[in-house]
Order: sequence, then C-alpha cells, then structure tokens
Amino acid sequence: MKILVLNSGSSSLKFQLFELPDLTVIASGLIERIGGEYSSVRLTFCDSAGAEQVIKKNMVVPEHRPAIAIMSELLLESGAMANVQELAGIGHRVVHGGEFFHEPTLIDRAVMEAIEELVPLAPLHNPANLIGIRVAMEHAPTVPQVAVFDTAFHQSIPEHGYLYALPYTLYEQHKVRRYGFHGTSHDYVAKQAAEHLGMVLGELNIISLHLGNGASAAAIQGGQCIDTSMGLTPLEGLIMGTRSGDLDPAILFYLARETGMTIDELDDMLNKKSGLKGICGENDMRTITELAEQGNHQARLALTMFCYRLKKYIGAYIAALGGVDCIVFTGGIGENSAIVRQLSCQGLERLGIGLDVENNAFRQEGILEVQGADSPVKILVVPTDEELEIATQTLQVIQNL
Ligand code: AMP
Repeated sequence: MKILVLNSGSSSLKFQLFELPDLTVIASGLIERIGGEYSSVRLTFCDSAGAEQVIKKNMVVPEHRPAIAIMSELLLESGAMANVQELAGIGHRVVHGGEFFHEPTLIDRAVMEAIEELVPLAPLHNPANLIGIRVAMEHAPTVPQVAVFDTAFHQSIPEHGYLYALPYTLYEQHKVRRYGFHGTSHDYVAKQAAEHLGMVLGELNIISLHLGNGASAAAIQGGQCIDTSMGLTPLEGLIMGTRSGDLDPAILFYLARETGMTIDELDDMLNKKSGLKGICGENDMRTITELAEQGNHQARLALTMFCYRLKKYIGAYIAALGGVDCIVFTGGIGENSAIVRQLSCQGLERLGIGLDVENNAFRQEGILEVQGADSPVKILVVPTDEELEIATQTLQVIQNL
C-alpha cells in the first residue's frame, strides 16, 4: 500500500508517493508555473529494474484541477502506481488551520468548511489546498484524506506569546493573532535533532531556524512550540528573499501619507519587493554571497542584515526558553549557506554558542554537527523533509481509524 502527499502552492503542485510500511519514496513530482503561459512538469521515479527515471514536459496547465489530473496520469503512466485502490491514504499540506486545528485531521465536510472559512487569512494558499482536496476526493472517494496544517505545530504557543498588543476585540472578532507557519518543517527537524543527539525531545530546548525563500524561527521547549517569528501572515519576523519581516508599522502610514501609495501597493512592496531583494536587488542567497565576496556593498549589507536579524531572534528565544540546548539550521539557506550560519552565530560564545568554522564548511548528506568541541550548545544542520513528515502524520491518523 502507498501514501500520496499533495503540497499545492499558489502556482505549483508538489507531490510524492511513498511505499508502506517504511515510507520509502517511489515517485516525486513538481508542476510549476500553474496558470502561466507554459508550465513545467517533472516526475522522478524508479522503474521496475530500480533505475531512476525522469519524465519532463512543458505544457499548458491553466489551474490546479488539471494539474492534479496530470499528476494522476503521470503516476499511472510511469507505473509508480497501478490504481487508486493502492492508496492507504492521501496527505494534504494545508497552509492555514487557524485556531481550529492543532493536529493532523481526517478530512470530512466540516473540516473542508473550516479550511474554506480560513481563506481570508491565507488567500493564496488555502483555495489551492482545497482544490487539491476536492479533486483528490473525486478521484479516490474511498481513500482516507488527511490535512496536515502549517500552523498546527504553533498552536501550543501560550496566549501571551500569540496575542498582539492591539485592542482585544480584534482577536475576539477577527481572530487577529500570531499563527506561525513552516510548522511541519520545525516539528520534523526538532524530532530529527533529538534523535540524532540520542536525547529525549521532551527534555530539550531547541531553536529551529527554517531559512528558505520564506524564513522563520521557532522556540521549541520539550517538543512544544512556545514562540515563532511569523505572525498572522508569513510576513513578520526574519528578513526573507522578498519579504521585509519585522518593521515599524508606522512606516506604512508615513508612506501612504507622503507618497499616496495604496494598501495594495504597500502589500506588494512588503511581500515582493523588500527583504534581500529590496536591499540589494537579488533574492537568491547564492548570488548575494557571490556579489558580497566580490565586494558589492549592498549585497554585503543584505547578508549582514539577514544574519543580524537572525542573531537577534536567537537571543530573544534563548531568553524565552530560559536557555538553549540545540540550534537547528534548515531550509535552502540554512542547509547550504555556511556563511549565514557563521555570521548569525558569531559573537554568541558567552551564551554557550560556539560554531566551528571548519566543521561548518564541511558538506555531507544528512545531519551535520557544526559546533566546536567546547560549545555547550549543539549547532546542527538538518535537511528538512516536509513531505515525509506529512506522510508520517497521515499514516498516524489512518492507523487510528
Ligand atoms: P527553499 O525555499 O528552502 O527551497 O530555499 C531557497 C533558497 O535557498 C534559495 O533562494 C537560495 O537563496 C538558497 N540556497 C539554495 N542553495 C544555496 C547554497 N548553496 N548557498 C546559499 N543559499 C542557497
């Protein structure tokens, strides 16, 4: 039997097929630029002789519904799946679970209505996630479908951590509060870190840094999230590829009054034209690092600002946790950028954080320890795997049916 995981973004569909009982990956696919002039479609799978094969196509995929039909055809055509009866369950990544969902949940009509109700809080993602669920239900009506929410891991944050200092009625009437995102990744890497260290997760204080195009930090006490940097939306917190992260909210009133910028223009600026891109014109950390090495002032500044913001969050979360045992770097930047890890830990030796520059420059598959021999705090690079975590959580739900 198999588990299929669907991860629908606003213009992409990522999917992975796992074989039970060990959750071995047997096929992975990605459809990008859905709704664009041409979409790229890619499936990687193992043929009957065990050799890796790749199918690549460029085609018109106007929306998510046909994208899912293409996914089914590819899985059947490649032989990765013989028919939907082989599926023990389908796991769906759902971005926003609001305050309704604290754990992976078997999908029924009421769950779908709740995801729909949360569309205003995640207008780009929840509708795509819902289409994925609806179409999967049409294709495989007898297969249990499970929703795994990006926000669920952060539901353990206490009231004093998730409320904004705004009129309380805004929370009561409009649910304005911190929700946090990347929860599946933070949850996965924290468990991986504890297992790697041979320690009990329930006894560890972990700061998890998920640094990709979007970036967030989480303070995890005994496996429970007690604070995270993203807020009502994924805009708050760390500096990101194109998002500003934290800023003085009065900047927006000032700009609206001074320049006449509209709400939509301000939204666009903060989400798409700020962050690393705003500072140096580039949002890919590889390019920024190269430019910084060549002496480009703005690229160097963007790198320095990115790491300084990270360092401030590390400090804040050490205070929130009352001390830290382990710092975890993950995501495209966290896993690959030695310079970001180095600069964000630099000068934190008095807090017990001592990164070893040589260990940090080393590259290997799997988990890497980059602290120095006399650093009380472990510093780990842990490759994230959101799809595997969704498959694991889906399996847990269907095993309890
Ligand atoms: P993600 O969203 O997790 O896929 O991460 C994407 C980001 O990871 C890219 O925008 C790059 O900035 C960054 N990244 C990927 N590989 C490297 C690398 N070797 N060095 C620095 N940054 C990298």
